[in-house]
Amino acid sequence: MRDRIVIANWKMNGSREVNNRWVDEFLSSAKPACRTVVCAPFVYLSDLAQRADGTHLEVGAQDLNENPQGAFTGEISAGMLRDIGMSAAIVGHSERRSLYGETDNRVAMKALALVKAGMKPVVCVGETLEERERGDTPSVILRQLNAVLTIVRPEDLLAVAYEPVWAIGTGKTATPETAEAVHALIRSRLREVSPEKGADTPILYGGSVKPENAHELFAQPNIDGALVGGAALKASSFLAIANAF
Ligand code: PEP
Repeated sequence: MRDRIVIANWKMNGSREVNNRWVDEFLSSAKPACRTVVCAPFVYLSDLAQRADGTHLEVGAQDLNENPQGAFTGEISAGMLRDIGMSAAIVGHSERRSLYGETDNRVAMKALALVKAGMKPVVCVGETLEERERGDTPSVILRQLNAVLTIVRPEDLLAVAYEPVWAIGTGKTATPETAEAVHALIRSRLREVSPEKGADTPILYGGSVKPENAHELFAQPNIDGALVGGAALKASSFLAIANAF
């Protein structure tokens, strides 16, 4: 039975005060029936890891550098993340791909760096609106996924997150059926690569998930949770999503 997971991606939001309030509110509510992870800006990770220690809240990073160390000013390695207690990080978010030119190969190298450091990647894949309209969704998803799966096993991933670029931060959610079609494609590829374990890797949906639409998305057979941006900035909405299974 694979894990059900809901992950908050705070992006470049928050402050010490705001984060403390969020964690207090989150932890004072009943434990949701799924795993819950918050991916925060680097500077807050240590604080959050300490506050979340021994609770049902897990903490992860939003990105990392793929190199183990060296002259990479401003960058953070997988070893450094592990050193402060992280066990997971997002790689290949569409904002990293589009704003910072991250290639499929670089995303794969980041995933591998995490695995080598004993951590688990959340690998984001997703097509743009143009690619969808051209009918290229399956080939884009498989190209992005295959880049990672050539060097990292499905069982080493915390999750694959399908995030159609046209649905991120736009308020436009993929219909449950549209999302499920892509999740089923991802599932079959994971199974092909790892016949024994490919069925166990959670596949999360991301793109304008909110408390109002989470339940119908989670009702799909291959949607095992969500990667949540905007709606995760409020602890109450994030909790409502985590309770929508
Ligand atoms: C995201 O950025 O990963 C995301 C899914 O954002 P939002 O929920 O705001 O669409």
